[in-house]
Amino acid sequence: MTGINWPTAIAFSVFHLAPLGLLWTGITIADLIVCFVLYVTRGFFITGGYHRYFSHRGYSMGRSMQFIMALGGTCALQSGPLWWAAHHRHHHKASDKEDDIHSPITGFFWAHIGWMLSNKNKEAPLELVRDFSKYPEIRWLDRWHFIPPIVLGILCLLIGGISMLLVAFLSTVFTYHTTWAVNSVTHLFGTRRYATTDTSRNSWWVAFLTFGEGWHNNHHHFPTTAKAGFRWFEIDLTYYGLKVLSYFRLVRHLKVPPHQALQRCQIKEGNTDIGMLSKKWRHATIKLERLIKKARRLRDEERVALEEFLGKVKLRWEELVNRRPTSEMLENMIWSVRIKYARVLRRLKYA
Ligand SMILES: [Zn+2]
Ligand SMILES: [Zn+2]
Repeated sequence: MTGINWPTAIAFSVFHLAPLGLLWTGITIADLIVCFVLYVTRGFFITGGYHRYFSHRGYSMGRSMQFIMALGGTCALQSGPLWWAAHHRHHHKASDKEDDIHSPITGFFWAHIGWMLSNKNKEAPLELVRDFSKYPEIRWLDRWHFIPPIVLGILCLLIGGISMLLVAFLSTVFTYHTTWAVNSVTHLFGTRRYATTDTSRNSWWVAFLTFGEGWHNNHHHFPTTAKAGFRWFEIDLTYYGLKVLSYFRLVRHLKVPPHQALQRCQIKEGNTDIGMLSKKWRHATIKLERLIKKARRLRDEERVALEEFLGKVKLRWEELVNRRPTSEMLENMIWSVRIKYARVLRRLKYA
């Protein structure tokens, strides 16, 4: 199951290289408009459809509109709605833990694109999207997700010739990198308002490029809503777009976070930033793990004992984080381990 997913790797390479052909064909005003329109519409189908609807059920809509949203999403060449939503739901369940499929703890490249190039993630955990896989038309789209973008490509070719097809590739690449930046950039750079258990951040420029998805720390704090910009100045074009659709009754019941949720767990209120603490903690355990492996003069029983200590600490931390601990619980945990940790570290330095 492991190894490189070659069909995806080749497709990504072709999409990235194809726009270079514009150097030969040249580019018209009509091409530029199509590039922009495809970026905006397909971006919206991903953020408003695949993400806020299929992954989080942030609002509701009728079955035909649901199909249109899914169909629009497939045109962005990001696989089918079930595959996308299943992986994304898993990301929220396991954010920045060891089994998170695209956490930057495994490196920026992995979080940005690498995880999709691995055969390991070719299949999505479809048991997480049973609510949508019950619809045969959605299952059909998920299976044949590459047909709508092929049709779109042929249309571009017929209407505007080769250069219009190439700008369609270009806009696909823009949509790719902005969508992927939500997984990579907004788990590394930006500000944190809420003490979530992951490393999510709010980034205004990612939010600008992804129509609101860059308010990722907000989103991880309260994911099941149609809204990601929680303050008036946090521009969230996806939400505004959904609001417009709701005036035409194409979508309904847009969920917004309740007032109490917005006030809860704010770092400035003195809540311990458990997500960032977890990150530091992980680095400390990785360092210890490496030292144990490297230490040549360690007796076997000593090595086993240290590995056991590390295993126990990791498990306790995991359990504690899952229980959404109070600041006091966290401090107690840290105090109980840090002395032993320091002693182990000293011992390993001479081993
Ligand atoms: Zn995330
Ligand atoms: Zn999400």
